[in-house]
Amino acid sequence: MITVEQAREIIVGRITPLPAEKIALDQALGRYLAEDIVSGMDIPPWDNSAMDGYAVRVQDVPKEGVSLKISYEIPAGSLPQGPLGKGCAVKIMTGAPVPPGADAVVKREDTEEYGDSVVIRTLPRKNDHIRFSGEDIRTGDLVLEKGTLLEAPEIGVLASLRRSMVFCRQRPVVAIIATGNEVADLDEELTQGKIPSSNSLSLISRVRQLGAIPLYLGIARDTAADLRDKFARASRADLILTSGGVSMGDYDVVRDVMTEGGNSMEFWKVRMKPGRPLAFGVINNIPTIGLPGNPVSTMLSFDLFARPAILKFMGASILTLPRVRARLTEGIRGSSDRPQFVRAILKRCGDELCVSPTGPQGSGILSSMARGNCYMIVPQGSNIIEKGEYVECEIFRSSW
Ligand code: AMP
Ligand code: MG
Repeated sequence: MITVEQAREIIVGRITPLPAEKIALDQALGRYLAEDIVSGMDIPPWDNSAMDGYAVRVQDVPKEGVSLKISYEIPAGSLPQGPLGKGCAVKIMTGAPVPPGADAVVKREDTEEYGDSVVIRTLPRKNDHIRFSGEDIRTGDLVLEKGTLLEAPEIGVLASLRRSMVFCRQRPVVAIIATGNEVADLDEELTQGKIPSSNSLSLISRVRQLGAIPLYLGIARDTAADLRDKFARASRADLILTSGGVSMGDYDVVRDVMTEGGNSMEFWKVRMKPGRPLAFGVINNIPTIGLPGNPVSTMLSFDLFARPAILKFMGASILTLPRVRARLTEGIRGSSDRPQFVRAILKRCGDELCVSPTGPQGSGILSSMARGNCYMIVPQGSNIIEKGEYVECEIFRSSW
């Protein structure tokens, strides 16, 4: 049986990033840059004041209490009327360009204004409260690299570089097919023996959360014919996800369709707990991940395998979940034959991170995901991990 890492490598190896498209900056949140951003300008563009106060020449203020004549003032958005004269000060607002000749700004709190003069109450040092041209970004700097996720800080930087359009990779269409005679969509009547298809909604949400486009195709009954019909409707998808129907049961038909003429299956089963049954292959030339049906396994397998595939389509440079080490708050028993992904709660304890399992860990206990914020990884073969030992955790929430 292949490992999680091997399975991920095979899947990601089959994915080619989508072409780039030019999009408006205000639509770029959550997208990945398809170009390196090199600055064509200095930021800030000119030396400017970091404070409301007075631009002075340091040598004109050898001691506290010196009075200087105010030549003129520079509100933000205006230009200096001329160089700073000897023995003079220029009243300046935050963000306004520092006049030629000035080498410090004294903040207003350290001054007293009397008519057209100002008394300086502190000794200025050269460069005080001046923001220098290019101190943030210089012309020619590589500011953002290809593959960077665009969030508020990056979009702010791009705006300050006056990039109203940016090249980002296209968003993949991800077809989602639930399977099972026992599952029903929320708008269907829940007849006896049926359960709601929670996987449909959790997968749609996960896909949307990554910035990809979900194409929900509904529930296939447990027959090869019904499943084939759903696959046929996925022809415009970049990736197909199915849930359920990949185990050993008599009605688990995903693998049957994946292995019939023209299609191919690259692997089935991954050494992990929960979520062992996972099929990956190509159906109608579209990479297809057959996720297990148990709701926890579905989401865990999505996070470990489908998420990296989707992110690769989108051109992301980082494909895996963020990982941290944390101290266990209680002892835990491992599994001899497979690494275990225990839903757990990661939090700060004093100076470090600690982690506690969410409780019962059955692969059908979906509330364990809702309570948790990470997968705590219990390595294969570890019998008991004692309280106080360190474990690796993969965080599956964006804030925690
Ligand atoms: P399967 O692999 O198809 O045998 O499914 C494993 C378990 O997951 C069964 O208990 C199913 O009822 C459940 N399951 C399968 N698909 C879904 C779904 N879409 N939503 C919620 N539970 C599901
Ligand atoms: Mg089933």
